[in-house]
Amino acid sequence: MNLDWTPADLAFRDEVRGFLTAELTQEMRTATAKMTSVYAPVALSLAWQAKLHARGWAAPDWPQEAGGTGWSPVQRYIFTRELTEAGAPPLSPMGIGMCGPVLIGYGTAEQQAHWLPRMLNGDDLWCQGYSETESGSDLASLRMKAVRVSAPAADGGDHFVCTGHKLWTTHGHEANMIFCLVRTAQLAKPQQGITFLLIDMTAPGVSVRPILSLSGEHIQNYITFDEVRVPAANVVGAVDDGWTVAKYLMEFERGGSLYSPSMRTRVARLHRFLAAEGAGTNGMTRRLSLIIADIEALDAFELQSMSSLSLGGAPGVKASMLKVLGTELSQRLTELELEGAGPYASAWQPHLTTPGGDVPGFDPPGDNSGVGSSYTAKAMPKYLNDRAGSIYAGSNEIQRGILWQNLERSAR
Ligand SMILES: Cc1cc2nc3c(=O)[nH]c(=O)nc-3n(C[C@H](O)[C@H](O)[C@H](O)COP(=O)(O)OP(=O)(O)OC[C@H]3O[C@@H](n4cnc5c(N)ncnc54)[C@H](O)[C@@H]3O)c2cc1C
Repeated sequence: MNLDWTPADLAFRDEVRGFLTAELTQEMRTATAKMTSVYAPVALSLAWQAKLHARGWAAPDWPQEAGGTGWSPVQRYIFTRELTEAGAPPLSPMGIGMCGPVLIGYGTAEQQAHWLPRMLNGDDLWCQGYSETESGSDLASLRMKAVRVSAPAADGGDHFVCTGHKLWTTHGHEANMIFCLVRTAQLAKPQQGITFLLIDMTAPGVSVRPILSLSGEHIQNYITFDEVRVPAANVVGAVDDGWTVAKYLMEFERGGSLYSPSMRTRVARLHRFLAAEGAGTNGMTRRLSLIIADIEALDAFELQSMSSLSLGGAPGVKASMLKVLGTELSQRLTELELEGAGPYASAWQPHLTTPGGDVPGFDPPGDNSGVGSSYTAKAMPKYLNDRAGSIYAGSNEIQRGILWQNLERSAR
């Protein structure tokens, strides 16, 4: 396998670099470098998305006819890597990264024409309503109810009346749209009778309550739905067969992004920090070397996975592997970052970092002073926030279960 970039690849890389030099502001770069979670503040993401969209680059993974770029896997890889290394803020993943591919795969022509452009230009901000209090890993047990009601067109037409709740909803307090899994029937298997429904968060009957993370940030939410009326036209895929749609979306949730470029950037920062401070023991250097080797291996696997995506496939079982490898490697890195920051990591000073959302109850000092640097200030919140990596998008234990089942199937 030849891993050298071709002259055309290098020309493309230079085009991306030119765009970044022109469009990515220093303010954006600085804010991204100080991010404490995997989410940039929504306003920052949307500002960056607007610049990408103006260039036609907001959704490189979509088919070209839907608003994608038509790039090869290598180009998409180069693009992601250049953006990450330059410090561009990540986009909120639930719209372009998750709901978009589902609408492209399962939506009607009308749904695609309506929702996809609004997703690209940031008119709609999406969140994901899968989990409930008793339904996380055992997602098929979900209970949020949707009852179909027939109505004349003059009265808004056929609709569903939805009652129940969703939990852990990332960006639920900022999004105006949510894609939900709802129970439309009780059938023989729990996976049957689930429907994938698009719900307007501003509809009467929707209430949002905050959940604060260990690091104090408000990113997740608890959402209740009290007889919320949703047009039947908002069903994606077939009624009662939402499980098929849900599983397809989860492949993009787990395997649609690259983990290695941002970890390379973090390793380089940690390395610079340790060298500048004369910090770091031999043990740390050895562990950092092992992490670097694992990032290289993950990098090659991600490129391979992206290559099969470009042939029109979904991430498939590779999504589970990537999720486990990427999140656990990231957690190992946060441990070293925390160790490198030493006692500076223990001061709580969110004003020196870029939290993924508001930090309620924190009263920042009037100036930018603090203990240590913004690099050391983010070590603890990043560490705490990253614990969730092995839980969200389906816990890593569940991913290992999927991998095992897949192995058993292929051995038969
Ligand atoms: C930061 C964060 C953001 C999130 N964002 C969203 C969001 O935007 N939208 C959304 O819908 N959900 C979201 N989630 C929810 C997430 O998908 C669930 O937390 C996850 O699926 C685990 O479910 P649970 O929390 O109910 O844990 P449980 O399912 O109760 O699991 C508890 C523990 O038991 C283990 N376990 C359970 N079943 C098995 C099994 N069969 N085999 C082996 N081990 C098992 C799990 O691995 C876990 O360690 C988010 C979660 C977090 C932490």
